[in-house]
Amino acid sequence: MQAIQKLKKDSIQVTQPLIDLLYPRRCPVCQDIAQGEELVCAKCKEKLPYITEPTCMKCGKPIEDDTQEYCSDCERIPKHYVKGFPLYLYVDPVRDGLTAMKYHNRREYARFYTEELWRRYGRIWTCIGFDAVIPVPVHKHKLHKRGYNQAELLAEPIAEYLGISMETRMLSRIVDTPPQKELNDIQRINNLKKAFQMKENGVNLKKVLLVDDIYTSGATIEACTIAMMQQGIREVYYTSVCIGHGY
Ligand SMILES: [Zn+2]
Ligand SMILES: [Zn+2]
Repeated sequence: MQAIQKLKKDSIQVTQPLIDLLYPRRCPVCQDIAQGEELVCAKCKEKLPYITEPTCMKCGKPIEDDTQEYCSDCERIPKHYVKGFPLYLYVDPVRDGLTAMKYHNRREYARFYTEELWRRYGRIWTCIGFDAVIPVPVHKHKLHKRGYNQAELLAEPIAEYLGISMETRMLSRIVDTPPQKELNDIQRINNLKKAFQMKENGVNLKKVLLVDDIYTSGATIEACTIAMMQQGIREVYYTSVCIGHGY
């Protein structure tokens, strides 16, 4: 028996380099085969489109005029969440890497993005003191087709870093809305109004961090926020790997 166990252990050790050879680690940004210790390649590291100050006090998007508190989108359509923590602009080179994480089963890329988010926002998130981390849910049809929710890949390590739980069962997406590319931001919010449902807040959450991969018009985060506030959550914050330029 012991001999078999030893053999199993040894064979795992032997096959690991083979796995590396068959599935080499790739840079989560450009997707070329990664060299060296770091998750991201040197070329991409220099080009990461970090968000720089001044930023909108609400959504976190960069603004040009630092005498203003909010960007034009947030001025025009006030949001119910407290504040957003986006990491990069939704531009090259991160756009393709995020698409691969979302649609092409490159789940392992999430590790790099969550490490980056934590490096940038970990201290402030710890100070805020969330009760839970909640990934933006996808509709069960999409989940079935894709096999995973990319927002959950990001939310889980963040919850672990914070030492709190990730809640995936309370908030659900009940309407599978079609792509919203042709809609303006007001139409998007109307379109998503009934798309999310929050179960009764049995664990009495008050302050939560919503997690998504990309923030575009903010309509999804807004719809989730409203559904959660209706069940007694008082403060909703969000984070996303990328934020779009706005409208
Ligand atoms: Zn790269
Ligand atoms: Zn804004």
